[in-house]
Amino acid sequence: MHDNRSLVEHRLKRVLEERIAPAVYPESVPLTGSIWVAPGEPVPVAEGLAAPREPVAVGDRWGAPWGTSWLTVAGTVPAEWAGKTVEAIIDLGFDKNMPGFQCEGLVYRPDGSPVKGLNPRNQWVRVADRAEGGEDVLLHVEAASNPVILDYHPFLPTLLGDKETAGDEPQYQLEKLELAVFDETVWNLVADLEVLGELMVELPEDSARRYDIVRAVEKALDAVDLQNVNATAAAARECLASVLAKPAVPSAHQISAIGHAHIDSAWLWPLRETVRKVARTTANMTNLLDSEPEFIYTMSQAAQFDFIKTHRPEVYEKVKKAVAEGRFVPAGGMWVESDTNMPGSEAMARQFVHGKRFFLDEFGVENDEAWLPDTFGFAGGLPQIIKAAGSKWLLTQKISWSQVNKFPHHTFLWEGIDGTRIFTHFPPIDTYNCSMKGSEIAHAARNFKDKGRASVSLAPTGWGDGGGGTTREMVAKARRMKDLEGSAKVAWEKPADFFAKAEAEYQNPPVWVGELYLELHRATLTSQAGTKQGNRRSEHLLREAELWAATAAVRNSFEYPYAALDRIWKTVLLHQFHDILPGSSIAWVHREAEKTYAELGAELTTLILEAQGLLAGESTAEDAPRVVFNATPHTREGVPAGGARVADPGPGQTSVSERAGGGHVLDNGLLRVEIDSRGLVVSAFDIEAGRETVPAGAAANLLQIHPDFPNMWDAWDVDEFYRNTVTDLTGVDKIEVERDFAPGQIRVSVYRSFGASKVAQHLTLRSGAKRLEIGTTVDWHETEKFLKLSFPLDIHADRYASETQFGHIFRPTHTNTSWEAAKFEACNHRFVHFEEPGWGVALASGSTYGHDVTRTVREDGGTTTTARISLLRAPRFPDPETDQGVHHFQHTLVPGAGIGDAVREGYSVNLPAERVGGTSAVEPLFTIDNDAVTASAVKLADDGSGDVVLRVYESHGGRASAGITPNFGFSGFEICDLLERPITREGVTVVSDNDGLRLSLRPFQLVTLRFARTTGSEA
Ligand SMILES: [Zn+2]
Repeated sequence: MHDNRSLVEHRLKRVLEERIAPAVYPESVPLTGSIWVAPGEPVPVAEGLAAPREPVAVGDRWGAPWGTSWLTVAGTVPAEWAGKTVEAIIDLGFDKNMPGFQCEGLVYRPDGSPVKGLNPRNQWVRVADRAEGGEDVLLHVEAASNPVILDYHPFLPTLLGDKETAGDEPQYQLEKLELAVFDETVWNLVADLEVLGELMVELPEDSARRYDIVRAVEKALDAVDLQNVNATAAAARECLASVLAKPAVPSAHQISAIGHAHIDSAWLWPLRETVRKVARTTANMTNLLDSEPEFIYTMSQAAQFDFIKTHRPEVYEKVKKAVAEGRFVPAGGMWVESDTNMPGSEAMARQFVHGKRFFLDEFGVENDEAWLPDTFGFAGGLPQIIKAAGSKWLLTQKISWSQVNKFPHHTFLWEGIDGTRIFTHFPPIDTYNCSMKGSEIAHAARNFKDKGRASVSLAPTGWGDGGGGTTREMVAKARRMKDLEGSAKVAWEKPADFFAKAEAEYQNPPVWVGELYLELHRATLTSQAGTKQGNRRSEHLLREAELWAATAAVRNSFEYPYAALDRIWKTVLLHQFHDILPGSSIAWVHREAEKTYAELGAELTTLILEAQGLLAGESTAEDAPRVVFNATPHTREGVPAGGARVADPGPGQTSVSERAGGGHVLDNGLLRVEIDSRGLVVSAFDIEAGRETVPAGAAANLLQIHPDFPNMWDAWDVDEFYRNTVTDLTGVDKIEVERDFAPGQIRVSVYRSFGASKVAQHLTLRSGAKRLEIGTTVDWHETEKFLKLSFPLDIHADRYASETQFGHIFRPTHTNTSWEAAKFEACNHRFVHFEEPGWGVALASGSTYGHDVTRTVREDGGTTTTARISLLRAPRFPDPETDQGVHHFQHTLVPGAGIGDAVREGYSVNLPAERVGGTSAVEPLFTIDNDAVTASAVKLADDGSGDVVLRVYESHGGRASAGITPNFGFSGFEICDLLERPITREGVTVVSDNDGLRLSLRPFQLVTLRFARTTGSEA
């Protein structure tokens, strides 16, 4: 027979688009519109409903950027529509080429109850299933004119990303306000034809099934009267019934679909708009759950539930009801879908604590899965944290975005730095916005790498980010693919049911060890330095606030600020969302984030000073602040970890002398540092070890600047070619020695200018420490540049350590394979560490995360390992002014450092000593006799019981045993999970007596201990 497949395919496309789809609404009448433009920020619903309206009509322009307009539509159902299904169609001027990322609306009834959202591909509101005819229709729409930031010519700088610069030009034009008859038969015919049309083109060209479908489609198209689609749709459907009824083959891939809308907690819109985005989408989804009995929806991010609980209680009521029915499923058990590279140990833990606790408190639901579809890579510390939170599974699809290497598994065990393994699934559909297109379903089945061992995968289904979630059309298509020959089988399923099934069927899944590095978006470790500094500082202030407040609560009956700490933690966790902390949001978001961090910093500082003031005892106004507090987990300059001591100012012993050939030499008897006339560190000699840090002829503390214009995703990406062009910043405006800038201390200050920018660096060698402190202040006014601070080290090592949550990860210094070569920019928390047996160097960082490491061989045969810290970038999208202005960085170079020294220096640079007026030493709540067992948190239990919680981890990467002595009366202790719930002591070796306990930990193991206090335990 002649092959006319392509003729039928093209015929189907045209007839479906031009004749059948428009016949879904065969009759319509106009609605009248009226509008009120809210003068500023969004107003409460009651205010919007009550405000006076002006007439508005189709074709009118509306909506300044970021504005809110309250639109009212009114009309009457024609009498002759009695018995028919009637819907309102409200097109705010949507661009249907984009499922979200533009204007949106939430529809209310006159009584203020929410109905559903309006989105580009979801513009209908059901008025009557069976109209009586003659009834009046009155609906109100809270319409948000959010501007399009990421348009067809993407990544162009725009001022629309902040309402302060966005202007007031209307962004949209009202497109349609109608009442219309909804023809369900035609709507079903559309779904039939879409499913079959999309399936047949995915089938092999020589398969009989493909031709069965081609012939059935041809017959159906013959049956449609193009001048009267509505009268002939039923007959056309009959032609398709038999091919739709053919069941899937027994070995068909099984897809667990779950309704979903990936809503970024802030990104191309501010946090306040997320509140409304979530409300609109959620209203859509509760509406869809009402009409589609088999549909199940999942929503992650406890913070987003909290948004609607606080701001849209009417929507939240519907959510609570649907959750209770088990069809609206809270997923992930985290406060937000956070970044996981940069959050510190405690913050990563608290994402789960606050997420899981919210779902438990609100719904009685505990998640077993972590849900992070869009996060830019996954740190090696995460598996242990997931497990310690009481969860066991992880979902993401983001690694499919890697530019170079294809990840070898879709379902596997992911092993973290401590050996914890987490059952992990990457949906082979490679999207978190599945729309039930045949091409997506076929791709998932074909792409699934674990075929033969496993047969199930997951598909998060629905439009996110203002697309309104799953549509009824997606549900209709899924229904047809439940058991359909040639297709994977699709069924709506909860994430937990999917994971249980996937885990049960897969014996001995493959294992991936170490971080899940995303070979993309590497610049998110550097962009928006202010946001990153705010995060780092907040994390450490929170550590201090918990530590000193708990200590003062136990010692001085200080009122532990449970509510304030809970609120501040949640705010910090919110800002770790995967487009805020990574620096990939619009200017508005980062402007607000920096303001919020400043407010939190002030509040935490006040709280810390209150607690410290009580602990330090009586102080008079004339008192010099001389009680020194040490919030690090290590004894520092005689001050015990977690305690305080009255300072005895030691004499400064650092000397400064002229360097032969120009420059200065700093020497404190431990370290001799030579700074040449260019202000560069040309020698850092470890006197004790007799060993040089900087290779001969090289210079450390070298600022280098690169052009940095990636091919796309400006704030997110740095492309490898940035390295091809580099300028060393060696020009000096001034070098000066500053004596006594602090009592007894000397520093060398270097001032430079480059481009439109200036930099000041202060190099300090304090007495008694083998540590060069480098403070760098940059007044940054560059465009599309990348600023690095370079440290060439005379170290030969195949790998180096970077701190991550509860430990460190090793990465190669070479580029043997494409996997290593792709890691040309990587994340560290507070330190990186380089080591040859017996001698190493640490670089500690007070706020930066990005770095790169390269190796070269010198003429003398030695290896130079160069570590470069990423300081600043200047991308122009989405924030055209990214990183402009003044930034301060603090780093330390520590020659002779073992891994334990690196850990200590990392804490030290982030938790500088504080001096407070007073007379009392403060005994720490806990004494731990081994530095390798490191306290990550000392706090009171969140439940308000007054119990003291201590979380420790093994920080050196080996086995460690430590005696832990609580310095307060306690009646017993328990091993707990992160939520401070007692767990069995399996895997934790504890020997205890009345004075304390001895704990033995495996490499990087974390343990949470909870101590019940005896009454009158104040020391
Ligand atoms: Zn996202």
